[in-house]
Amino acid sequence: MSAIRAQSMVFHSPATPLVRRDESIGPLDDGQALVEVLCCTLCGSDLHTQSGRRPAHGPTVLGHEIVGRVVESRARDIVAGERVTWSVCVSCGTCIPCRTGIPQKCRRLFKYGHQSIDEAPLAGGLATHCLLRKGSFAVGVPDGVPDAVASMANCAGATAAAALRRAGDLADRRVVVFGAGVLGLCAIAMAAATGATVIAVDTDPRRRALAVDFGAADATPPETIADHQSLAANDERPAGADVVLELSGARDAVLASIDIAACGAAVILVGAVSPIEPISFDPESVVRRLLRIEGVHNYAPGDLVAAVEFFASGDNGERFRSLVEKTFPLSQAQEAFDFAHRHRPLRVAVTMPS
Ligand SMILES: [Zn+2]
Ligand SMILES: [Zn+2]
Repeated sequence: MSAIRAQSMVFHSPATPLVRRDESIGPLDDGQALVEVLCCTLCGSDLHTQSGRRPAHGPTVLGHEIVGRVVESRARDIVAGERVTWSVCVSCGTCIPCRTGIPQKCRRLFKYGHQSIDEAPLAGGLATHCLLRKGSFAVGVPDGVPDAVASMANCAGATAAAALRRAGDLADRRVVVFGAGVLGLCAIAMAAATGATVIAVDTDPRRRALAVDFGAADATPPETIADHQSLAANDERPAGADVVLELSGARDAVLASIDIAACGAAVILVGAVSPIEPISFDPESVVRRLLRIEGVHNYAPGDLVAAVEFFASGDNGERFRSLVEKTFPLSQAQEAFDFAHRHRPLRVAVTMPS
């Protein structure tokens, strides 16, 4: 391989703009693959890091919702020329978390978009190239899936798939989803596709309307969910939701998630990835209702496969493409963050000069 010049936009600290960095990429090591980045969408956690709400380790190339084309591969399962997205997590496959179904908690975990450039210089999406390290899990993207949607599969889509996997069979179940951002819309559409009756909860009327467009039977503000008619008891079933997906991270929503859960329900907490005030709950009520309260953080490789398959089916690719409200070139990655903080769009995308 002749030397390739790469460019990245490096995050140093919350108050300072991203700084352009140029470097050349040497020969690949065994197990590595080089990807030319096509698109990177900014996830909420990128925004939290960039604004200082989430701590970051040293200068880093942010962005983990990435799609790209493989330039060269020395990895067994990654094919040169293919368009791919890849798991945010690289896991060892041998430690106890890896062997017990939670590889995202690997003892030797590496995460794209999170590492210091001193350790891994091209490991984030805000760059012309990404160097996939040995053990990365990449998925080929079918032609019908737009770049920006394939990017979103990698975090929002796969995390929604992980939450639904933990919730269990959703056919004919009453599912309440708190938070109708991209993660919520993914969960709503996926749950509706499996035959669930989905009620979305969001404070924002525009997001409630989107929730209905993406498959929710109804959408309500938080104040009225407890009295929603679809959660009423009848001769055959208890009052409440059979599954609650808490994706907003708001403290009141976490409390409400437990309150509205029906007897035998699963309450899946996903959104609370930043510190919030602790909540208290009534253990007796949890016991008597046989509740299962579970946290889901990141996802396993199979969830990414499920997300890509979901976006490749029907018109999901085009539907989800509409959630990207503005696209910026790599040179304006800082403007992309500024726009996202100011206007709170569902997603902004950063694309690379080809
Ligand atoms: Zn993310
Ligand atoms: Zn491991």
